[in-house]
Amino acid sequence: MTGRPTGSRADPNGVVTASTARWIDIGVNLTHARFDADRDQVIARARASHVVHLIVTACHAAGTAGGYALIERFPGLVSVTAGIHPHEASRVEPADWELITTYARKPGVVAIGECGLDYFRHFSDPKDQRTAFEKQLTLAHECGKPLFLHERDAHADFLAILRAFGKARLKGVLHCFTGTRDQLEHYLDLGLWIGLTGWIADERRGRHLPDLLPAIPLNRLLLETDAPYLLPRTLTPKPHSGRNEPAFLPHIGSLIAGHLHMPTEALARIVCDNTVACFGLDLPAPPSHPGHHTWVATP
Ligand SMILES: [Zn+2]
Repeated sequence: MTGRPTGSRADPNGVVTASTARWIDIGVNLTHARFDADRDQVIARARASHVVHLIVTACHAAGTAGGYALIERFPGLVSVTAGIHPHEASRVEPADWELITTYARKPGVVAIGECGLDYFRHFSDPKDQRTAFEKQLTLAHECGKPLFLHERDAHADFLAILRAFGKARLKGVLHCFTGTRDQLEHYLDLGLWIGLTGWIADERRGRHLPDLLPAIPLNRLLLETDAPYLLPRTLTPKPHSGRNEPAFLPHIGSLIAGHLHMPTEALARIVCDNTVACFGLDLPAPPSHPGHHTWVATP
């Protein structure tokens, strides 16, 4: 596919830059201790980079409550998830479930998770992981909220649980997709959105991902940094800390737009619309500008 609107600018690599692009980071671990010293500056840098909204990922009860406090501190800029990461599944107490269930129904909590299965590191017993996962599928359905899904080295069990729950009751995003073409097709068949991170910039582990990009329908694509993890390896200059930040989301976006041979601004607009559709976000309308146009792919 190619297509380029009039008035866009391309750098020598063919990446079209557009200062009017707006981005939403659907997965940022903003309550992580690595942001404790400068959380306000991290958010200010994200805004300066046209990242207009952040969905803060929760991994446990305390993270859910901590994320929610950020909504009050940065109104309109932050939404959060509520949930239990598979790593935490063996440690979760009844009081944690009560808290998650209460937060799940609050406005500003836009998804349940991150939840799923992770057999890569056995921080929690697989049986406990499956129980916690199934509980959160039910919770999401009861609250009418989408799922923020995590899967690593557990595809067969993960898929079996999702299929048993039923496609008709499922809505959500498979976050940080790094899998195979078959796995991608399974997720798309279930109607899930696909979250991509800076993993795509990893010439070792993510080498297969650019080839899979055209297989993801554009209306199913979402973007995330997963900060502070997964600093894109192509970023220059790299921060000395090695820490990823939501301000680097446009870098991931333009990289993906480059792979898809489409203008960065057009990709940003599509992904923004997808994010609103997936999470039911209520964002202010973008400022109109002379360069606003509809991008059409030509064969
Ligand atoms: Zn994850």
